[in-house]
Amino acid sequence: MAQALPVLYFVIPCYDEEKVLPCTAPLFIEQLQRLQTAGRISSASRVLFVDDGSKDSTWACIERMAAEQEGVEGVRLSRNRGHQNALLAGLMQAKERADVTISLDCDGQDDVRASEAMLAEYEAGCDVVYGVRASRQADGWFKRTSARAFYGFLRLMGADSVYNHADYRLLSRRALEGLAQFGEVNLFLRGMVPLVGYRSSSVYYERTERLAGESHYPFHKMLALALDGITSLSVKPLKWITGLGMGVFCISLVMILWSMVRHFIGATVSGWSSLMCVVLFLGGVQLLCVGVLGEYIGKIYAEVKHRPRYIVSETTFSKEEP
Ligand code: UDP
Ligand code: MG
Repeated sequence: MAQALPVLYFVIPCYDEEKVLPCTAPLFIEQLQRLQTAGRISSASRVLFVDDGSKDSTWACIERMAAEQEGVEGVRLSRNRGHQNALLAGLMQAKERADVTISLDCDGQDDVRASEAMLAEYEAGCDVVYGVRASRQADGWFKRTSARAFYGFLRLMGADSVYNHADYRLLSRRALEGLAQFGEVNLFLRGMVPLVGYRSSSVYYERTERLAGESHYPFHKMLALALDGITSLSVKPLKWITGLGMGVFCISLVMILWSMVRHFIGATVSGWSSLMCVVLFLGGVQLLCVGVLGEYIGKIYAEVKHRPRYIVSETTFSKEEP
C-alpha cells in the first residue's frame, strides 16, 4: 500500500509586515501548490502565518488570505512576544496538525524553493533539516561582519550552533514533540534544536534581500539575541569568571609578596599611579564578573516565574479541527 502523503505546514512569523506580506504570501502559497501537484505533500498542507501582535494591518491581511484562499491559516498572538516566541507558537500549533513543518521568515529572504530539497531530506529519513546560507553576498558589510562576530562569540562562549543557519528549518512531528518538552522561557531555538537530537542534515540556499519593509533586528537586538543564546546554552562565562578570579588572585599574591619585601627593605615610594592601576583594574574586573552573574540571575528570575511564552488570541482554524 502506498504511504499517505505527509501534511506539511510552512510556519511564518510576521510582525508589522503589511508592506511585505502581499508580495511574499503568493510565493509561499505557490510553493505549497507546487509540492502538492508534484505529489510530495498532502492536500491538507497549509501555510500558517503567525501574527506576532502587529500594530499594523498584518492580521487583517492574514485573515483575508485565509478566507479567500485554500491552504492559508493564521494564528494571532495576544501581543508582540518577539520572533522566537512567535515561531514557537506557530510550531506548537502546527504540531497538532502536521507531520512536518518548515519555518521561515515572511520577508522573502529565505528562498522558499529550498523547501523542496529540505523535503527530500525528510523523505530520506531526517527529522531536522537546517537551511544554511551559502553566502552572505546580499548583506551589507556591517551585517556580514556583525553576523560573523555573533557566531564567533557564541562559539567562544560555548553556545555552539549551526554556522550561518538562522530559523529556516524543517522539523518532523517527533522533533517538534521533543522541542515541546523544553519548557524554557529564554528561547533560542537555533541552539535548542540540535539538543533535540534525531538525524539531521543541511540544505544550502542563497539568502536575498528583504523584498519590502524594514528589518526588526537592529544591532542591539542582535546583541540581546546573542546574550540569550549564550545564557540559554552555556555556563562557560561563569567558569571564565572563576578562572579570571583565580588568575587575578594569583597575581595579587605575587604583588602582596613584592610590596612586603619592598616595605621591609624600606624602599617604598609614594606610588600613586600603581595604586590607581590596581584599584581601577580590580574594580573593573569585579563589575564585569558581577555583570555576568547578574545576566544569569536575570535569566533564572525569568525562568522561575515561568510565565507563558505566548498567548494565542485568535486563529483562523475552524472549530472542529484538533
Ligand atoms: N518577527 C516577529 N516578531 C518580532 C520581530 C520579527 O515575528 O518581534 C519576524 C519578522 O516578521 C520576520 C522574521 O521575524 O518574518 C525575521 O525578522 P526580520 O526580517 O526583521 O529580521 P532579519 O531578517 O533582518 O534578521
Ligand atoms: Mg529578514
